Amino acid sequence: MVNSYIQPGDNPDLTAERRQATFDTEELTVLFQGSARSVKRRREIYDYYQRSPDLQDPVPVDFLDRVEKYENAQRKMALLTKHVPKVVPDGNFEDLMNFFSTVFQQDGFPLGLHNSMLIPTIENNADDEQKREWLPKARANAFIGTYAQTELGHGTNLRKLETTATYDPNTEEFVLHSPTVTASKWWPGNLGKSSNFTVVVARLISKGKDYGPHPFFVQIRDPVTHKSVPGVTVGDIGPKFGINTNDNGFLRFDHLRIPRRNMFMKNAKVQPDGTYIPPVHDKLAYGSMVYVRSFMIRGMAHHLAQAATVAIRYSAIRRQGEVTPGAGEVQVLDYQTQQYRLLPQVARAWAFEIAGRYTRYLYQEFLSGIDKGSAAILPELHAVTSGLKSLVTHHVCLGIEQSRMACGGHGYSAASGLPQLYGIVVGGCTYEGENMVMLLQCARFLVKIAAAIRKGVAPGFKSEATAYFFVNSASNGNVSTPSGALAALEHASRRLTLLAYDRLEAIKATGKSHNIAWTEAGVDLRRAATAHTRTFIVRQFIEFVKTVKATPATKAVLEDLLKLYVYYEVIEADGDLLFDGHLKGADIEAARVQIYEALRRLRPNAVSLVDAFDFNERELNSVIGRRDGHVYENLLKWAQNSPLNKNDVLPFHHKYLGKAMIDAQDGLFSKL
Ligand SMILES: Cc1cc2nc3c(=O)[nH]c(=O)nc-3n(C[C@H](O)[C@H](O)[C@H](O)COP(=O)(O)OP(=O)(O)OC[C@H]3O[C@@H](n4cnc5c(N)ncnc54)[C@H](O)[C@@H]3O)c2cc1C
Repeated sequence: MVNSYIQPGDNPDLTAERRQATFDTEELTVLFQGSARSVKRRREIYDYYQRSPDLQDPVPVDFLDRVEKYENAQRKMALLTKHVPKVVPDGNFEDLMNFFSTVFQQDGFPLGLHNSMLIPTIENNADDEQKREWLPKARANAFIGTYAQTELGHGTNLRKLETTATYDPNTEEFVLHSPTVTASKWWPGNLGKSSNFTVVVARLISKGKDYGPHPFFVQIRDPVTHKSVPGVTVGDIGPKFGINTNDNGFLRFDHLRIPRRNMFMKNAKVQPDGTYIPPVHDKLAYGSMVYVRSFMIRGMAHHLAQAATVAIRYSAIRRQGEVTPGAGEVQVLDYQTQQYRLLPQVARAWAFEIAGRYTRYLYQEFLSGIDKGSAAILPELHAVTSGLKSLVTHHVCLGIEQSRMACGGHGYSAASGLPQLYGIVVGGCTYEGENMVMLLQCARFLVKIAAAIRKGVAPGFKSEATAYFFVNSASNGNVSTPSGALAALEHASRRLTLLAYDRLEAIKATGKSHNIAWTEAGVDLRRAATAHTRTFIVRQFIEFVKTVKATPATKAVLEDLLKLYVYYEVIEADGDLLFDGHLKGADIEAARVQIYEALRRLRPNAVSLVDAFDFNERELNSVIGRRDGHVYENLLKWAQNSPLNKNDVLPFHHKYLGKAMIDAQDGLFSKL
């Protein structure tokens, strides 16, 4: 079979790996990236980038300080008007996002929040007239904006946001104010220095009544001088765990006046006299969250695939230890422990990609339901995407860190790209809904199902993903097939959901309120949500592999990846599966053997599998994960960029370290 990544002059270990491919990498690439068109355009965009010297970084950006990184990103942004019409002439959204991530990579750039949050907020929350006024300017980048919701004092509990927008009917304006220190907006991406407009979520107060948080469109800087407007204090919040090219910012208001029509009015409205009109569909806001999260799940799946690509390619060229004396050192990828660390990451990346894809399909179903006047699918969709957002970001972080550690010392170097990738991805455990809070939201939906089961009433809503709750499982589980393993995981999920519900009810029976009981049962509720989300991913992956149109050779590797994924999950959940005797120790051991067998079969394809993800060098950002495998000479070259290497002897050496050594020598010699 063909691995299309083989090129003359590559590291021979990688070429030998690629020659073993049992499938056509191009076929798998199209399946992973979604379509032949996507793959073609991704490659054209990367080619274009390589042919554009002005878009290149002066040195690898990890050698730049924070201001230099930010300036470099601004410099490249200014070139977009020249390049975008050439490289993405039809303005295709997916292609644009590809181009941006190729040019700017993942550490943040001035248009990041503008594209991902501001424009979608206008699209989903502005009325027609507002859209006509704001959208063309936003799409042309005539202003740059962000989304300012979180405050110093509150992130999760939006009801307690403190920024106020008080309506003044005399002037038909809102007065924006930050009444306390904790009311300061804190965290919004690109707020500190890039944005001159922002969405601000503030408590709407009209005719003396507080209607709670609503979104407003607010100018914070002068469009020409870029100075902050009177009544606004804005700046950067300082260095962070990652994404330090992003100027995440703070923002305070001192009685800033904005026109009435700068309140987003597609849903709720305030009339000129101050009369408040509530939204017709109060659930619609959840729809946009679902949409953003479904894309986030895909992005996360791809980040895990990138980490696995780096670590597996490196493990194929890294030789360490002689297993058979005299036979030479082995590739570290030949150690079963290394395969057990890395290949499950490949399988998880696939599983998460498929789950994200399915949620995007469900979102489309939701939209067509809305057109017909029904939002029935929304509670489940919200629960599923909340659970997935949390589980996927968490597992992707664990997988990146596992990949990093599997690269030994070089994984700790920024040259591997893995520490930066971890820093970027771990933020995703917090933004777009803090992970623990997301799981508890998923649990709210599950508790309703459990209540229906315990009360023996028909559920309000039943779907493919929840049907298993209403079926009794076989008394003895059997994990000899992925479907059998899914049934066992469903059994555990059902038990954990009912257990969490019973715990909740038992606490309530002691006289405690529902809310108190909810906080006291939190750990079990979280366990239930995790278990249910796991069944969702496993089911979608099984379904995908069953129905995918692929050649037998490609289908065979997908089946092995599926087995690896499913049995790895069984092992991770072994305590829950064994707890009530549904599975026995022998079943768990059988699952382990399935994993070892899958690893053995996948090992010859390991490099080809990660090649088939089709990430380019810009996306991987890794010296040790290079396609050509020429790691060592390029590590030496990379290190030459260090500013510490500009001078053989640093200008201040003799002032401190050199002087200290000379003084110590003088002391020693004077004692002689
Ligand atoms: C990299 C990054 C980028 C961001 N970008 C933006 C942005 O562009 N715009 C913006 O507005 N904000 C942004 N944020 C802020 C982000 O949305 C919030 O940090 C997030 O919503 C969590 O809120 P918090 O920080 O107040 O945490 P808290 O809500 O204070 O959470 C702290 C802890 O309390 C727990 N907790 C809180 N509530 C509950 C509950 N009900 N039940 C159980 N446990 C609970 C949490 O699990 C967590 O462990 C960003 C944050 C990061 C890290």
